[in-house]
Amino acid sequence: MAEKFDLIVIGGGPGGYVAAIRAAQLGFKTACVDMFTGKDGKPAPGGTCLNVGCIPSKALLDSSKHYHHLQHDYGAHGISMKDTAIDVATMIARKDGIVKKLTGGVTQLFKGNKIAYYHGKGRLMAGRQVQVTLSDGGEIQQLEADNVILASGSVPIQIPNVEFDGKYIVDNVGALDFDSVPATLGVIGAGVIGLELGSVWNRLGSEVTLLEALPDFLPIADRDVSKQAAREFKKQGLDIRLGTLVKSAAVKKNKVIVNLEDKNGESQLTFDRLLVCVGRKAYTEGLLDEDSGVQLTANGQIQVDDQSRTTAPGVWAIGDCVRGPMLAHKASEEGIAVAELIAGKPAHIHFDTVPWVVYTEPEIAWVGKTEQELKDAGVDYKTGSFPFAANGRALAGGNPAGLVKMLADAETDEILGVHILGANASELISECVVAMEFQGSSEDLARIVHAHPTLSEAVHEAALHVDKRAIHRGN
Ligand code: FAD
Ligand code: NAD
Repeated sequence: MAEKFDLIVIGGGPGGYVAAIRAAQLGFKTACVDMFTGKDGKPAPGGTCLNVGCIPSKALLDSSKHYHHLQHDYGAHGISMKDTAIDVATMIARKDGIVKKLTGGVTQLFKGNKIAYYHGKGRLMAGRQVQVTLSDGGEIQQLEADNVILASGSVPIQIPNVEFDGKYIVDNVGALDFDSVPATLGVIGAGVIGLELGSVWNRLGSEVTLLEALPDFLPIADRDVSKQAAREFKKQGLDIRLGTLVKSAAVKKNKVIVNLEDKNGESQLTFDRLLVCVGRKAYTEGLLDEDSGVQLTANGQIQVDDQSRTTAPGVWAIGDCVRGPMLAHKASEEGIAVAELIAGKPAHIHFDTVPWVVYTEPEIAWVGKTEQELKDAGVDYKTGSFPFAANGRALAGGNPAGLVKMLADAETDEILGVHILGANASELISECVVAMEFQGSSEDLARIVHAHPTLSEAVHEAALHVDKRAIHRGN
């Protein structure tokens, strides 16, 4: 006999576990099936984000930032220290401790919300039956529910002739767990993971080379931001080679030999380690029985409508396994929206105001449209900008790099996009998200009192500059 639930969530990442908690809050008898096993061999709900994504990468970014500042920046403050060293094992253990705390926290949240947690692999059958193969022992359990949410996440894309081996040629999982600082690190793909994890190992002393196929750097960001960011990263020692196609890679005598082609023809590079991060794809392996009624799109994502309904009645899908940006906060908000829709409540996600953040130094954050997108769409817009070099708090904190750039509708002044390169951009962007969510204008932000001295004054000045009345820069 199958155990009956109101809702079963397959996948316990930030999409799935958040959906399960919201559903339980709404009074649904809820189960969450997740197969992630932690480094210690124990169940570790939280998905890619908590285990091998957002959180561990930020832990290492933080450790490496302290080390880098100690070596390069503290001298200007009059602080000196002899014999600085990085103990990679301690740094990795700290990161693992944070991951363990958070995945343990999810287990506690499941208990507190009376969510039945199954550690195993779920397979959706016809009629919203879910077959769970338990990780411990392989026993099979049958569950069924009125509604099922699929939140199976994503996995790294592999490129031809470059095989992951988990030691020399790695994905994000391997690059979060190197046991020493590689003298040289090759990175295929100068996207978000390449920049974040490339920064980690670069700050710790690796010579990092990023091999990017596209001719432009970070085209997803506004061009003014990506141009300045490229300059900053170059100063930090990241060697970013655009227009570079990797043909193959092979491990020989503990080194990785990479064959590539660029505008100068074919050549070869040798690295101690190679990180491949050329994007991620939806993960649905073993998830769907042929009778499940759920269809996939041509690129392997689970097909959903605007409100995350799949092609099977009562089956929903959220997060990285469906369309839209592969971001943890997008997955979580979709999960909350679906739980509320199931409860008959109104719910929606405004995809235009999902913020993006790249946690490099300086950080990159944006919301809404880029200038290129507005141009392409033929929208009449105005721009305002403000450099952090003219912001007192940024100078006091030793963070003069970067700018805030605001785009507003030429006629209505509604904010259409904000792009920030600078310290704490990840936090500064929230004000802009709120303003856009309320359909605010640059005038609205210009009239709000911003505390002094704060980095947020740069947002204020950029808003003033849209109307060419910034105070601390020429207009
Ligand atoms: P996932 O987090 O991938 O979770 C899916 C879960 O489902 C996994 O535990 C998986 O094991 C499980 N699962 C899959 N199939 C089954 C099955 N059949 N049965 C049972 N369980 C199953 N995003 C941000 O917003 N900010 C960041 O800073 C950020 N940093 C990142 C850094 C790295 C290195 C990486 C790789 C990603 C990062 N991301 C970041 C992206 C973020 O991790 C994902 O967008 C997010 O985890 C997606 O959530 P999800 O719930 O859809 O899927
Ligand atoms: P990405 O899409 O950010 O970057 C991949 C890069 O690889 C692109 O610049 C692409 O042009 C390049 N590329 C593709 N094929 C290539 C090839 N054959 N040779 C050389 N370059 C190639 O993907 P990612 O860095 O792997 O990250 C995956 C996703 O995870 C991100 O898109 C993002 O959604 C999520 N993520 C988010 C954060 C964050 O929010 N801070 C951090 C890490 C990851």
